[in-house]
Amino acid sequence: MAEIQIRNVAKTFGAYQALQDINLTIADREFMVLLGASGCGKTTLLRIVAGLETATTGEVWIGGRRVDHLPAKDRGIAMVFQNYAVFPHLTVFGNIGFGLRMQKLPDAEVKRRVERTASLMHIEQLLKRYSGELSGGQRQRVAVARALAMEPDVILMDEPLSNLDALLRLEMRAELKGVLAESETTAIYVTHDQVEAMSLADRISVMHQGMIVQAASPIEVYRNPAAEFVAGFIGNPPMNFLPATPAGNAKWTVAGQQFDGPDKGKALQFAIRPEDMRIADHGLSAVVKVVEPLGAHLLITCEVDGTMLRAVLDSDLTVSAGDTITLAPQVDRVRWFDPDSTLAVA
Ligand code: ATP
Repeated sequence: MAEIQIRNVAKTFGAYQALQDINLTIADREFMVLLGASGCGKTTLLRIVAGLETATTGEVWIGGRRVDHLPAKDRGIAMVFQNYAVFPHLTVFGNIGFGLRMQKLPDAEVKRRVERTASLMHIEQLLKRYSGELSGGQRQRVAVARALAMEPDVILMDEPLSNLDALLRLEMRAELKGVLAESETTAIYVTHDQVEAMSLADRISVMHQGMIVQAASPIEVYRNPAAEFVAGFIGNPPMNFLPATPAGNAKWTVAGQQFDGPDKGKALQFAIRPEDMRIADHGLSAVVKVVEPLGAHLLITCEVDGTMLRAVLDSDLTVSAGDTITLAPQVDRVRWFDPDSTLAVA
């Protein structure tokens, strides 16, 4: 059992507050992704769990044991980082088995684990090669295999795929997901790539300015963002926002159209994802500015009552810049945000 608990963790570097009061419980065998823009504190949080950085305040618990006073090597974790330190002068076998030899495991056990993880990562044919002779993707597999070979309770990964080209990333992503789903490991994975986060995570913690804004399943984060920041960060293109004024009885006026909404009695933001709008007879009147045919669909940038808005439409439609179209938002997909708190309102 390796549940991870991060309790009231804060971190300051001099006068700079990198993390503020982080509380997060990661269940045994859960795959948790820390997602956020550069500088939001995700690496710092991971390093605190790893024992490579000390929290200014707060506690870290792994498997029911408080570990924040323990050195990294005594925390039962394995790590894979962006600049994967694979030793070039060792063979692939030597690299994968390195930590096991440090632990003085018997040769037969080292061999068993190296062969098993190499086969999981599809590099069994490379075991005798020197790591300096490998491609970036192969080295990355070695780094992951080495971490898995430790049979850790917890695996921590910091942008492990970011040095790979797009195609290889896609392939490794699927492999990593498969391998970790089979293992009994609890994982924390840091990335700024939302697609990677959506693809891999059981839950995503969306971070912003040293705080966790929302921790929920990928679909929940996508469909029900807890704050405007999450709505604007997740999704490519992200959610659209339009100002909404109350029209009484839980009705709202948005760009001259009436919509049902929450009963709040103050101006709100109406939010809708680009793919949740259709061309229809009634809806928001939009002047098309840019049409981008992306193959699978058309990406339209248009102006609705002075606000720029993006819509993802059927690629068979004939729409041109300058056209006026009517966009009907799918009503059950509309979300509402309080412009003062920036939080979602039910
Ligand atoms: P990236 O995706 O760019 O790695 P991140 O979200 O992982 O970003 P962190 O590396 O955790 O961000 O850094 C969070 C903030 O703390 C940044 O503003 C960074 O400049 C600052 N920071 C991190 N490490 C140190 C340090 N050792 N000394 C001073 N400031 C630091």
